Amino acid sequence: MKLQHATWPQVQAYFQTSDTVIIGVGSCENHGMHMPLGTDALVPEKLIEMIEARTHVLCAPVLPFGSCEYFTGFPGTISLGDDILRSVLGRIADGLYTAGARHFVFVNGHGGNIPAIEAVCYALSKKGAIGAVMNWWSMAGSFDPGWAGGHGGGQETAAILYINPDWVDRSAMAPGDIAPVAPQIQAVTLKNAQFKGVQIPVPRDARSICRNGWVGPDDVHAATAEWGEKMLTTIADYIAEFIEAFQDAPLG
Ligand SMILES: [Zn+2]
Repeated sequence: MKLQHATWPQVQAYFQTSDTVIIGVGSCENHGMHMPLGTDALVPEKLIEMIEARTHVLCAPVLPFGSCEYFTGFPGTISLGDDILRSVLGRIADGLYTAGARHFVFVNGHGGNIPAIEAVCYALSKKGAIGAVMNWWSMAGSFDPGWAGGHGGGQETAAILYINPDWVDRSAMAPGDIAPVAPQIQAVTLKNAQFKGVQIPVPRDARSICRNGWVGPDDVHAATAEWGEKMLTTIADYIAEFIEAFQDAPLG
């Protein structure tokens, strides 16, 4: 049941028999020249639609903005920052808590949102509730190492090709690129550099170090809608099963 389509008496009735809710968290940010800015919200939206068909759990609207300070140099990127995201998510969780929610499942589309979501989970834990965080892109690699991916790379491109191929600009697919930190220090992700085999965080503004905006190690050209369908179906099945088990989690 989608919260935005339900009446308040329907929500009241829902919480008489269940205390589980799903909250989707997205971002509006650069995903490379070939991918839509809304990718990190569009994938959780699709996953939640698939989970809803399997579980009938109450689903709040996906928050379309997150925390992505490092991408604000790319046009169209909008970041709430960690503090505001934490406040907004806290208010969303509080509203659902007041209505009766105690088991919260966050379906997250963006790594930069993790600190804020986890802070909300700790706050919920202190008042007798519990939260779980589904970071779909990192879960994907657990199901199939070939599904692991970077930011805006083959993994996310496959997901969007499945959701709506019209949102991928194939003509703009081009190699990813990140400038090294120094001649002897290579960049391995947007944040992490590598020196003598050891990874060292060197946080830098993304626009000044990568021209395209997507970051490997996977390849956007390998993405297919079939990959996206199999990957998102597997993750939706898993989250639906997780929710069944999570509903039995005791509350403090
Ligand atoms: Zn993304």
